[in-house]
Amino acid sequence: MNNPRPCYLQIAIDTPLNAVFDYRWPCEDDQRPHVGQLALVSFARREVVGLIVGVADTSDVPVDKLKDALAVRSQLSPLSAKWLALAGFAADYYQRPLGEVALPGLPKNLRVLTTVALDRALKKLAKLDAPHDPAPANMPVLNASQQAAADAIGGAQGFTPSLLYGVTGSGKTEVYLQACAQVLAREPEGQILILVPEINLTPQLEGNIRARFPGVMLATLHSSLSEGERMLHWLAAHQGKARIVLGTRLAILSSLPHLKLIVIDEEHDPSYKQQEGLRYSARDLAVWRAWQLQIPIVLGSATPSLESWHHAQSGRYRKLELRERAVQNAVLPTVKLIDMERDKPADGLTAQLIAAVRQRLERGEQSLLFLNRRGYAPVICCESCGWISECTRCTSFMVLHRPEHRLRCHHCSLEMRIPRHCPTCGNVDLQPLGRGTQRVEEGLQAMFPQARVLRIDADSTRKKGSAQEAFDTVHRGEVDILIGTQMVAKGHDFKKLTLVGILNPDTALFSQDYRASERLFAQLMQVAGRAGRAGIPSEVLIQTRYPQHPLYGAVVHHDYDHFASALLEEREQAALPPYLFQALLRAEARELAMAIEFLTMARDCLEHPGITINDPIPMTMTRVHNVDRAQLLVESPSRPALQAFLKEWVLTLRDLKSRVKWSLEVDPLDI
Ligand code: ADP
Ligand code: ZN
Ligand code: ZN
Repeated sequence: MNNPRPCYLQIAIDTPLNAVFDYRWPCEDDQRPHVGQLALVSFARREVVGLIVGVADTSDVPVDKLKDALAVRSQLSPLSAKWLALAGFAADYYQRPLGEVALPGLPKNLRVLTTVALDRALKKLAKLDAPHDPAPANMPVLNASQQAAADAIGGAQGFTPSLLYGVTGSGKTEVYLQACAQVLAREPEGQILILVPEINLTPQLEGNIRARFPGVMLATLHSSLSEGERMLHWLAAHQGKARIVLGTRLAILSSLPHLKLIVIDEEHDPSYKQQEGLRYSARDLAVWRAWQLQIPIVLGSATPSLESWHHAQSGRYRKLELRERAVQNAVLPTVKLIDMERDKPADGLTAQLIAAVRQRLERGEQSLLFLNRRGYAPVICCESCGWISECTRCTSFMVLHRPEHRLRCHHCSLEMRIPRHCPTCGNVDLQPLGRGTQRVEEGLQAMFPQARVLRIDADSTRKKGSAQEAFDTVHRGEVDILIGTQMVAKGHDFKKLTLVGILNPDTALFSQDYRASERLFAQLMQVAGRAGRAGIPSEVLIQTRYPQHPLYGAVVHHDYDHFASALLEEREQAALPPYLFQALLRAEARELAMAIEFLTMARDCLEHPGITINDPIPMTMTRVHNVDRAQLLVESPSRPALQAFLKEWVLTLRDLKSRVKWSLEVDPLDI
């Protein structure tokens, strides 16, 4: 036997350093590892799992500096070149090292030192007989516009991005499912990826998919799976056994060797953007992935993001429209504005809204009251000296949670008992100021003691499974009045709901954030869309102090088209996205001055023709958890120019060796 020649593995590791590291592999059994396999290596005195991105005959690293890789996870088939290119693109575009993108995208159990979990999952999966009958069951008859949309998506070849613009209740889900049926029938091994913005929306859709495709394996990927489940589902996708993968944004980085169609439901939803670590947009990566694989992708929404709308207007995306509700006799609800200057609210509710709720109770129909503010009251105060419950660690207030008898900061999670008396003057009469969902719940229960009132928000659904249980209760008709935050606004198909009351939307009208009105509009249209889905006439009542505001006018007329066109025009004139590309450099420090100083240095450290760098400013919420935060906005009308600048800039910033913690976000949503 001839002596085996060692080879050299280039391995990406999850560290902030922008580098791939070389390791030696002895090749004792003559087997060379493959690119895309995982390997166990020692790195910075620890053992970690890295990703092999290159296998070479030589290395530039001096032999005495080279370590041997400890093991290769050969039981796992390699991640494909396409998947590596996807991770590579994301790393490049969002200006992060490859290892920091690729490895956290894998299930945790793949990144641990032992292979026990992997072996167990592989064994389990091998025993699972993947059903192999793509025939759909119980296909309802589509209406003409649904059919046209389903055919356009299901029959598309090559990279074909479509915007499915369909009013709430127009049956977009059915369009996705029938497009899926066409793809599954045509592509013997084809896989489909379906993304939803919220974990709470997966069970409803999962049920629909399983009922429709009983002979096809479905895998779900979202954050509430146990690590064991996540591993199993991820592997089912990676091995091509799962033909449909349904997940939240993190699923965009799953390994899907036979991907043939991508569906992004509620594509406008800000939840597609990851807000920490690698701040990626799953929607944008999905479009790239579809382009990379030359496959169709459909982005669905009743209120598309202006970015996607812009692409549809310019012809880059094909626009498919559903103008009517799908259920027979179901029409969009009537939207009315209640002028709060005339009809003064008591307990947060105007007389008209209370009367409307009472009417629903008498008829045995459901009402939904929407208030995007959890807790009992956003703040408590002392009326004699003016003290208010501020968080000691943040530029924000301690929110009163009365059922839990606590004050809570929603930003740093600081908690305390409700003080008995004012910390400044000793006054015992501390008053809640303003209104959150808990207070509205209390008021309604007092007003309608017989009614079954249910509150759904992040506080009421902390326990695993409790959100699902709450939604099921609503679907079973065991709730008369539902109070909720944005958690209830999205996607749910409540059949008996005929009234939506919107309590306090005005604050967003005057936000500094130029995206606030786009968001408010989408949110109002979405929550309004929960009413009247089963053909019973229904209404939406919006309580406002500004009934003349054009945004509300557009909501009353369900007029997304004009509203979007007007917003786009404004954005073009003001040179804002999507006509401009942005990146945001954030800095965090013990003191604001340090953060600003770093950002000033960052602003001046590099020539930047064609790029606008604004002045550093404190973030709106400057202090969170005793850390001060500032930001620097970088803009360019050219995406390639911005990308080229960022690449160089990041290198320069690393060299500044400042103790300030900084991070860069490309295409930021919150500025
Ligand atoms: P969207 O996602 O567009 O808001 P959904 O997909 O939730 O709407 O559909 C709304 C309702 O219409 C659902 O109850 C669905 O079962 C029903 N539906 C969809 N398509 C049809 C159809 N062709 N005929 C009858 N009902 C339909
Ligand atoms: Zn006081
Ligand atoms: Zn705080």
